[in-house]
Amino acid sequence: MKLSEDEAKRFLERLCPLQETEQQLLCPRCGRNELYSGLYFFLNSLSRYAHVYICEKCWMDEALREIDGNPVPLTSWNAVLPFVLRGEIPPSDSSCQDTNASAGPAQTGEIHNSSQTV
Ligand SMILES: [Zn+2]
Repeated sequence: MKLSEDEAKRFLERLCPLQETEQQLLCPRCGRNELYSGLYFFLNSLSRYAHVYICEKCWMDEALREIDGNPVPLTSWNAVLPFVLRGEIPPSDSSCQDTNASAGPAQTGEIHNSSQTV
């Protein structure tokens, strides 16, 4: 299963409210620098590619890469990459539970014996 840019974008944009309430201040793009908090929160910049705050360095990097026409795909962002590497889709905003409630039909490989002796 491959994560699309669109899915990555949706996942990243879910971080925005967490950023605004300062529950998630690590930059989702580089995963190294923290965003501004408290009185300085307004200094944070939104990414060009998703409605989510990123650190100053990443914002600059995006600006430079935009000139080159060589943006970093959202699926390579630090916050998204673990999901990509595991081949998982990040939880969507429709289901906030931790458990996969709607994972489709359960995988029962045993009930495949069609030739039953009566
Ligand atoms: Zn960053």
